[in-house]
Amino acid sequence: MTFLINTPDPDRIEQFRQTFADAFPDLPVASCDDPYDPADIKFIFTWQALPDWDVLPNLEIVFSVSAGIDQFANLPAHIKLIRMVDPKNTQRVTEYVLAACLGCLRAFPEYGWLQRHHTWAPKQAGFAQDTKVGILGLGGIGQHAAKALSLNGFQVSGWSRTPKDLSFVTSYSGKDGFDKIIGQSDILVCLLPLTDQTKGILDRELFAQTKPGASLVHVGRGAHCNFTDLKNALETQCLSQAFIDVFVDEPLLENRPEWDMPNCVITPHVAGRIDPKTAVENVAQNLTRYYQGQDLLWQVDRALGY
Ligand code: NDP
Repeated sequence: MTFLINTPDPDRIEQFRQTFADAFPDLPVASCDDPYDPADIKFIFTWQALPDWDVLPNLEIVFSVSAGIDQFANLPAHIKLIRMVDPKNTQRVTEYVLAACLGCLRAFPEYGWLQRHHTWAPKQAGFAQDTKVGILGLGGIGQHAAKALSLNGFQVSGWSRTPKDLSFVTSYSGKDGFDKIIGQSDILVCLLPLTDQTKGILDRELFAQTKPGASLVHVGRGAHCNFTDLKNALETQCLSQAFIDVFVDEPLLENRPEWDMPNCVITPHVAGRIDPKTAVENVAQNLTRYYQGQDLLWQVDRALGY
């Protein structure tokens, strides 16, 4: 039985290989460039979906390198899919969200745009304690970010499919909850998984419901957002500012209109990055459970899509 590692980054392959070898000295590990017998592969650690999963006839478990798993829509239902829950990645995304919310509070996207136009235009900044942040998606990362924002004085609400009972965040769910959180938030943060229900959720209709002067921090997935609608919302000041980390087609090509959205900071999908050591610990924990016949952790509900 061989454990297959499939990532496009050769440095990361070596880091993962070494960490796996340390954790499971008896488990043969191969990268896609190594010679291996496809029939030997029971587990794969991969960022991308394979175009054809039948090439690995005995595959049982896909361990996703990323927290988001929307790219695995073509995975046959009998193969288990495990999403990445890496505490260091959660911390990284939280720090991005906190930095972006503070950046919106202090109007950094707006000042960046004014700088491009050689314009000196000071404005009065608000305070975190008067600022309402609404987080769409109160999962592992959303809750961690909510706590950090709350500790930094922001008034934090969150929206999820099922209601939550948490001391540091006001929880909303359902359509009524969605309308409330969109209408009241000074800063909206998207930390949803990409599913059939959440695709295109950041659109003209949502932007029209936002509070005047609201900002958007988008770190979910590109396809959550209609970028034509976002550009229009920023140009018409329906939204005042944005930090956008994810796009429909990445990398964002040089001639894309998104680059010219006003009052918007664009980052190249860097909010999170899996740490090889803690990521492999996540996989190791589940492999140990697998060998002991226990249920696996962080298994994706294929019907819900996350
Ligand atoms: P989780 O699966 O832990 O949490 C998902 C949250 O979204 C849950 O609270 C869930 O509700 C909620 N949700 C799902 N569907 C709906 C819906 N239809 N309506 C309302 N709420 C819904 O995910 P993570 O927190 O680990 O990650 C969230 C996402 O962040 C990832 O899927 C990925 O897209 C993105 N991400 C981006 C990174 C980057 O670098 N830009 C890095 C890491 C993650 P409930 O709690 O009720 O199940």
